Amino acid sequence: MGNSGGVFDVSLKELVGGKSSRALEKSFGMATAGDLLHHFPRRYAERGQLTPFSEIEVGQPVTIMATISSVTSRHMKSKKGSLLVVTVTDGSDTMDLTFFNQKWRDRELVVGRSGLFAGTVSEYHGALNLTHPQYQLFGDGEDTHADSISEFAGSIIPVYPSSQSITSWQISSAVNVVLASLDEVFDPVPPALAQKHQLMSRKEALKAIHQPASVEEIERAQYRLKYEEAFALQVLLEQRRVERRSLNATSRRSMEHALVKEFDSTLPFDLTAGQIDVGEEISEDLGSDAPMMRLLQGDVGSGKTIIALRAMLDVIECGGQAALLAPTEVLATQHWETIQSLLGRMQGDSEIEVTLLTGSLPSTTRKRALLDIASGMSNIVVGTHALLQEKVDFFDLGLVVVDEQHRFGVEQRAALVAKGRQGIRPHLLVMTATPIPRTTALTVFGDLDISTLSESPSMRAPVETFVVDPATHPSHESRVWERMAEEARAGNRVFVVCPSIAPGQSDSDVLESDHSVEHQITDWSSISSVEQTFTELSERFPDIACGVLHGRMTSEEKNAVMDRFREGHSDPIQVLVATTVIEVGVDVPAATMMVIRNAERFGISQLHQLRGRIGRGDKPGLCLLIQGAQATDSARQRLAAVAGTRDGFELAHLDLEIRREGDVLGQRQSGGLTSLRLLRVIEDIELIEEVRTEVADLSQHADWAETVLAIEKMNLNRVAQLEKT
Ligand code: ADP
Ligand code: MG
Repeated sequence: MGNSGGVFDVSLKELVGGKSSRALEKSFGMATAGDLLHHFPRRYAERGQLTPFSEIEVGQPVTIMATISSVTSRHMKSKKGSLLVVTVTDGSDTMDLTFFNQKWRDRELVVGRSGLFAGTVSEYHGALNLTHPQYQLFGDGEDTHADSISEFAGSIIPVYPSSQSITSWQISSAVNVVLASLDEVFDPVPPALAQKHQLMSRKEALKAIHQPASVEEIERAQYRLKYEEAFALQVLLEQRRVERRSLNATSRRSMEHALVKEFDSTLPFDLTAGQIDVGEEISEDLGSDAPMMRLLQGDVGSGKTIIALRAMLDVIECGGQAALLAPTEVLATQHWETIQSLLGRMQGDSEIEVTLLTGSLPSTTRKRALLDIASGMSNIVVGTHALLQEKVDFFDLGLVVVDEQHRFGVEQRAALVAKGRQGIRPHLLVMTATPIPRTTALTVFGDLDISTLSESPSMRAPVETFVVDPATHPSHESRVWERMAEEARAGNRVFVVCPSIAPGQSDSDVLESDHSVEHQITDWSSISSVEQTFTELSERFPDIACGVLHGRMTSEEKNAVMDRFREGHSDPIQVLVATTVIEVGVDVPAATMMVIRNAERFGISQLHQLRGRIGRGDKPGLCLLIQGAQATDSARQRLAAVAGTRDGFELAHLDLEIRREGDVLGQRQSGGLTSLRLLRVIEDIELIEEVRTEVADLSQHADWAETVLAIEKMNLNRVAQLEKT
């Protein structure tokens, strides 16, 4: 966050000159003084405290503090010219700085002097080396030397994220210019809160973070700026809640819950306590004339579909329509079938019309569906994102349910809720099986109400998970396939999941790309594909019926395959080789085993979702994660985590810990210049919670609008743009 008037908005070019400003712009995208002031030091060095070379990352731009321990210069025989080798030390290790044809530098680079050296470290025969580093030497106590670091008045030296084109100390001197012209700094934090938390003023904090007099001052400055980030974030989220309360929706308060009661009585099981509670929360929301915006999180198998259906029935009873949006055609079709069969048990005289609308319907069926939707004939519409097309007109859309919300883009969701009548918003329920950790719930989803299902009534059977590493145990992979064959011969169903369809061909029907997974592998020959695996398995086990499922197939083909894979088919498929199209929602209780090839290509939540496809019946399940030889360390960590627990919440938390925190808020929120810099959503969760309460209080006061305006001016609006539904 930066711009709030005054010197903050002044262009860097004006303040620090063309050369530095160009470098800052090019390296970090900075344009204004405010941007630069929010480029905080990565760490601090204390004068005289040398940088341990052991911490240096080869290949990365670094800034080190070191002392010169020897200087040699010689003529090179092969090439014309001289080579100056300056050896520096951190007190225990050494590193060579090499300069070609710059012998004159030995006048200032003399043994015993210390300074900062910057460049990209390389390793040559096990020795660290910096070629033509930039440097800034310290004076001998006094700043007698022209090149000495006069900027660093104190003994604490800020070390900035730097680049090839601008060094840490050049950034530091640009910052000093800006700080010197800093006049009044607007402070968005109300005095009462500043006092409660004993915060430095914003101006003091900005000075102290760049030019600290003591370690204590750094800490206080960081705390203050961190508080400010939490504050700004929560103000924006609170404002979205305030705005939402002012929106209009039609109240769908069902008095009798007649349909729901009838429906409940047909279920072959009792609802769990959690399902009942969440159902009550939702019917309360539906009764309001402000739109519901609720996130329902419940692990795989927790029975979210039933909850959604009960909410739909309430809305239908009040004369409205409901839409259920699923991320893939397979899932939409399955939902459509499930809902029809669940409702089919109801005896009532009011027939409930369930319509399927996907991209691949034959055009007559599609026209019919569109008409039914527009006329109000259909009560429930189940579909994929085809539902979002403009041609789809609802008669009276009262409720939108989005299944597996993590697979939908923000814009898609926004398009759907815009389908209510004349500015009246439908109620919105988004469901996710990827548990949202408390941290994310308070940041990204901070403006949604959240319901949680913690039991998984349909997942009672235990599932064991193992990582298989053929690189260290080549025989294990063969044993996996033998085990798979046994399972199929015993009458059970097996999923085999591969990252690609054919060699080098990923599955575009799988909407999500998991950003937590590194994709630097270009050698596709080592990535197993559905087609290859299918051929291999069919040849090796001629007695077992294998089938294939992926996003390139038509929905008829997909549905036919899924039917044969379910129990009781006369021409069964025993082993289904598939891409992650089966990741969400697919419900085949006879499936007891899953093999995931190149499991390192998947993220934690994907693996967890995939595994949720087995153990849904009463027989125990087995999940084998085959780890490719190219698995990185963090991939190995992910697989170990998934093998270690089946608790979705625990996995979501581990996922956060393994991923860098920046990812928590997603690219757009964490990247760029103006978003969270000091706030760490995991570490600082308590602060975030406290600030959330404080901000909720503030929103009751008359000057709330001003506070919001002030924060919006501070260029943090990008956070507000997010997830705006
Ligand atoms: P998810 O939350 O993963 O979407 P589903 O709604 O698909 O879960 O439910 C998974 C299975 O559990 C379904 O077969 C459903 O009929 C069943 N189910 C739902 N609620 C209960 C319950 N209270 N007791 C037993 N089984 C249930
Ligand atoms: Mg589901």
